[in-house]
Amino acid sequence: MVSVEEALGMILAEARVLPSEMVPLLDAPGRILAQDVVASVDIPSVDNSAMDGYALIAADARGATKERAVRFPVRGEIKAGVTGDMPVVTAGCAVRIMTGAPLPRGADAVIQFEDTAEAGGEVLVFREVLKGENIRRTGEDVSRGAVVLSKGALIRSAESGMLASLNYTFVPVSRRPRVAILSTGDEIVDLGPELKSGQIRNSNAYTLHSEVRRYGGDPRYLGIAPDTKAATVSILREALEADVVITTGGVSMGRYDFVTEALEELGVGITIETIRMKPGKPCVFGKKGSTLFFGLPGNPVSTMVSFIQFVRPALLRMMGARRIEKPLVHAVLSEDIKKKTGRTHFVRGLFSVSEGGFSVSTTGPQGSGILRSMSDANCLVIIPEETGNLRAGETVLIQLIEHGEI
Ligand code: AMP
Ligand code: MG
Repeated sequence: MVSVEEALGMILAEARVLPSEMVPLLDAPGRILAQDVVASVDIPSVDNSAMDGYALIAADARGATKERAVRFPVRGEIKAGVTGDMPVVTAGCAVRIMTGAPLPRGADAVIQFEDTAEAGGEVLVFREVLKGENIRRTGEDVSRGAVVLSKGALIRSAESGMLASLNYTFVPVSRRPRVAILSTGDEIVDLGPELKSGQIRNSNAYTLHSEVRRYGGDPRYLGIAPDTKAATVSILREALEADVVITTGGVSMGRYDFVTEALEELGVGITIETIRMKPGKPCVFGKKGSTLFFGLPGNPVSTMVSFIQFVRPALLRMMGARRIEKPLVHAVLSEDIKKKTGRTHFVRGLFSVSEGGFSVSTTGPQGSGILRSMSDANCLVIIPEETGNLRAGETVLIQLIEHGEI
């Protein structure tokens, strides 16, 4: 039996980064960048106006007020998107300019329309202007040669825009891990037929499929293995072609829990069988070749908690992600929690912001079969092995499972 921290360390040590591939930019969000992105151009490419207004020389508007406006002849106009010959700003003159248009030669500031009035070829300027005002400088967003995105970064919306501005139609990302998902158990029934007494709907496969997708993997659901060693071996043999195999159930001490025996027969090197945690104590981890195997417990909450703690970081590591940790923050407990020492507990919690900090309550009954407790939760309260009962008002650590990795 290992601790949660030891288990995670052992698992991450076995996770190898997958090779990269090119994907169209529109498909890149959610993927992990496989190379540094170096800017080949300055953004913006030229000094340009941040406002619709007039380009002028700031010093020429010295002393301007609403009552004592300074008068500038208007020497032409520059629209956004124009190229070729441009009007030039000379002493005491202004050029009408639109947002995003290149700054004309001679000008050192732009005053917005709202602080001016134009009539008869002249513009009245109603206030003083600072040198550099309303000018976006060449390269102020991105300067040529700079590393703007690093290998291992998650591509989100901002990164997509950044890649677009650097003209990346295709993006180098790490390949998605192929993840085979297998449920086990004679009592488990897939969607469709009505349940007979004693049967249980296969919810785990759907939870896991969703989680694998969410963290960038490519899930493949293989169905339900009946509780015989021969069937388990035969389905697992096929499953082991994937980069990662996840099973649920069949790893406890029951007489019909065949997963571990099947793995041994298939030559999977098992390094973890139980972890000092609740829920999720029976949790098998092994490796064959480069394939990682996770035998998650069958109870729906245990499955999901174990996935979040162990499979999620392994998938992210395989994609070369730089950030693999969910944020851990302090929160004040709003109710008592009973706990025995000896295992790390992951209690389903609901946090909210109160008086500038977080407070957290539990989501009610915490049985490992009660998936509602997970569905109602937005965090896990992590209570260390050596900690016993907790009282309302004590500060605990909560893991923000809905938040992105940091
Ligand atoms: P096991 O470790 O195989 O004994 O499974 C423990 C319990 O988890 C079973 O009694 C079921 O109630 C539940 N369980 C196992 N597999 C699934 C599944 N795929 N979907 C929902 N519940 C499951
Ligand atoms: Mg079972």
